[in-house]
Amino acid sequence: MDTNKNKTNNTSDKDKTSTPKGTSKDTNQNSSNESATQNSNNSTQNSSQENQDKSNQEDDTGMDEKKNSQKPSETEKGGPLFTFFIAGLKDILYAEKHLLEALPKMQKAATTNELQEAFEDHYLLTQKHVSRIEKVFKMLGEEPETKKCEAIVGIVKEGENTIKETEDGSMTRDAGLIIAAQKVEHYEIASYGGLAALAETLELYDISELLHKTLEEEEQTDELLTMIAESNINFAAKEDDQEGESDQEYDDENEEDEDFYDEEYDENRYSSQQRRFFY
Ligand code: FE
Ligand code: FE
Repeated sequence: MDTNKNKTNNTSDKDKTSTPKGTSKDTNQNSSNESATQNSNNSTQNSSQENQDKSNQEDDTGMDEKKNSQKPSETEKGGPLFTFFIAGLKDILYAEKHLLEALPKMQKAATTNELQEAFEDHYLLTQKHVSRIEKVFKMLGEEPETKKCEAIVGIVKEGENTIKETEDGSMTRDAGLIIAAQKVEHYEIASYGGLAALAETLELYDISELLHKTLEEEEQTDELLTMIAESNINFAAKEDDQEGESDQEYDDENEEDEDFYDEEYDENRYSSQQRRFFY
């Protein structure tokens, strides 16, 4: 992470994510790839167009081009488990699209550049997640429809309440936003974990792999948010409770110093309140 980033140059790094890239699964996929190959001999007829589609979308989805896609039979498609699996995909597609609307608002409301960047990065990741689910629908020969996810609507609403209930520019705002975002991540982790397991059960191994990629990214985002909260924001938020008259005196006395800090430390992406915590 470039430590010289600040609010004004966030957009220049849009292609970077704060979350570490999930690659551990990539190296462990050979056995499931072979298994998928063995189980999908009947899929080669429809693979030509799909391989081309995969190649076109590889950057968006992270899908291994060599993976074979197995389409379920019509009998399997009519089964209750498959129907439930499709409903789950529609639910999470709705959730991801809903988050594309919510994340910019959370980014705008956040106090620190660190959290703003985390939300900005996760917005880009969420776009990728939408692409992956749409690809899954395509591999299944289904339309990428959405089904309203009441849970994510409620969790996002809670996040909006957090913004209303906390002071603009406070560290308490960020502490609250992190918890709101982690509630979202935990919903996604439960959804993707369950759907990936169901895909495996349905012998849709390549689809399970795609869902696992997203699952890993959601888990990494959750860990990143924990790290941001516990490394400084929660401590700095505690300072919100201790600010008062003495804090005002501090501000007056250190006005000149603040100017110095603005020039010197904005590049280190610390807000004035965070700097107060560190100094
Ligand atoms: Fe997501
Ligand atoms: Fe997420």
